[in-house]
Amino acid sequence: MAWDSIIGQTRAKNLLRAAIAGGRVPHAYLFTGVEGIGKDAAAIELAKALRCEQLGPQGTPCDRCRNCQNVAVLQHSNVRFVFALPTGKGEDGRADSPLLKLSDGEISQIQEQVAMKAADPYHNITIPRAQQIKISSIREVKRDIAFAATEPGWRIIIISEAHQMGEEAANAFLKTLEEPAPNTLLILTSSHKEQLLQTILSRCQEVRFDLLTDAEIAEALTARNNIPRKDAMLLSKMAEGSYSRAIELTNSDLQQLRFDVVAFLRAALKRSPVSVFTEVERLTAGNDRRSLERTLMLLLLWFRDALMLRLTGREESVVNQDQLKDIQSFNSKFANASPERLIRSVEEAIGAIRGNAQSQLAFIVLALRMESICYS
Ligand SMILES: [Zn+2]
Repeated sequence: MAWDSIIGQTRAKNLLRAAIAGGRVPHAYLFTGVEGIGKDAAAIELAKALRCEQLGPQGTPCDRCRNCQNVAVLQHSNVRFVFALPTGKGEDGRADSPLLKLSDGEISQIQEQVAMKAADPYHNITIPRAQQIKISSIREVKRDIAFAATEPGWRIIIISEAHQMGEEAANAFLKTLEEPAPNTLLILTSSHKEQLLQTILSRCQEVRFDLLTDAEIAEALTARNNIPRKDAMLLSKMAEGSYSRAIELTNSDLQQLRFDVVAFLRAALKRSPVSVFTEVERLTAGNDRRSLERTLMLLLLWFRDALMLRLTGREESVVNQDQLKDIQSFNSKFANASPERLIRSVEEAIGAIRGNAQSQLAFIVLALRMESICYS
């Protein structure tokens, strides 16, 4: 286990393991890449490795010693995990503790989120109104570093989604970065490094994390979340390289969305404006942009299936196995329709939805395009 619990990311893992094994750990790392690909998880694993009492070959933490276990549950006195918190009533940023002015309800929400992160380092911490990493959290970090550690050995500070530091917090943190303390490792993670101060960026060693492959996501969903293989394949293809995005999808009503897709396609190919309008009204009512985007992603997959089946003739290449008959009959009925053009028109609709276009209009335009491509 240990590093194996990080999904994919072979390049980043090798780099970090070599640094540990060779004693060449810098004083600050910045892990970058999109959300949900394992940056925080790798930061926690690295902290474990640096604290482990029985470090194995190639920087492998034992996962059994007291240090490993305390780091894993985010309860180690020498390892601090910093993240965005809500601002309390009347808080002026001068408070000693970032939790001081928060309500009991807020504090229990925070504890619950930390517990979820400890149980699964891929968990995305979500706390209402928590938009910034507070200056008081950075002051805590500075106090940690200023005082002698309670235990010898490495002190590790993980700043999760570091771009969420406000201006004051970022400037305070910059001073910490400029004066490296011995035996102290700062690990910043960020899915928006363009929002970090240039002066912070230039003082960290960047480790880029890659998008996960469909196969890596599907395997993780099966192994970690007990998701049946065929559902895992479908989810992985919609997750755009992010494991946490795939998990988010498992919480949405995928079956309903898949039904919506076929209903929309049928309406569009009926050559009846009334049925298009009715279907679009039904689809867009009560559905937020995110689910509309998911519906379109599913439609995209559907056309990719049609294309793959046409190109290869292999039924096992179809992701929507339960809709194989529909896909086959679409291919034979619309043998002249170009799936590439259909795919492009769906991609344009996704772009429009993401770009805040009026969603009913985007779906109607798409329906008309699909109709004209299929009947041309
Ligand atoms: Zn250990």
